[in-house]
Amino acid sequence: MFILLMGPPGAGKGTQAVELVKKFKIPHISTGDMFRAAVKEGTELGKQAKACMDAGQLVPDNITIGIVKERLAKPDCQNGFILDGFPRTTAQAEALDQTLQELGIKLGRVINISAPDQELVKRMTGRRICKSCGATYHAVFNPPLKPDICDKCGGQIYQRDDDREETVVNRLKVYQAQTQPLIEYYQDKGLYTEINGLQLIEDVLKDIVSSLRGIQA
Ligand SMILES: [Zn+2]
Repeated sequence: MFILLMGPPGAGKGTQAVELVKKFKIPHISTGDMFRAAVKEGTELGKQAKACMDAGQLVPDNITIGIVKERLAKPDCQNGFILDGFPRTTAQAEALDQTLQELGIKLGRVINISAPDQELVKRMTGRRICKSCGATYHAVFNPPLKPDICDKCGGQIYQRDDDREETVVNRLKVYQAQTQPLIEYYQDKGLYTEINGLQLIEDVLKDIVSSLRGIQA
């Protein structure tokens, strides 16, 4: 079961990845984790990536793809994986195709958990965090008992700059613009499925699982 997982911030991609790992017993491979592991292991590509990041530069595609390839070639990926956060561009998608072909892997499905921007903005701008203990709340879905006071430690609750409406709207715009060509790329290959992320967690999972029916394990 070789799956590519996409979805805008706030759509619940992380939650679904956890469920899919449990259900199919395949690893969840996120780009961030992959980079951290490569840097920690001190692989040649990891060192090159670290040098770029330390210099505040974007890691070039050839290094990123090399790290992805190293990771997907590991034995735990033999029966499948959930790849998350890669590819981000069609050039990367083409490079991924090449890599998978070299590894003898056939991508089963590309799943995009989507939700209207308006809903994502509501979810993300509602996030509140305790300054003292880091507990998270939601202004609408999970508010603290007393306004702006942490239930757990009495600390002050605040909104991160990242979660302000202007920032969130902008982040979503960038995400959609970046992702649209990828959607078309995988639609053309007949691999693309869009899942409604506005449902209950278990219903989102149910839809994902049924979209995977008939795919070779
Ligand atoms: Zn607290």
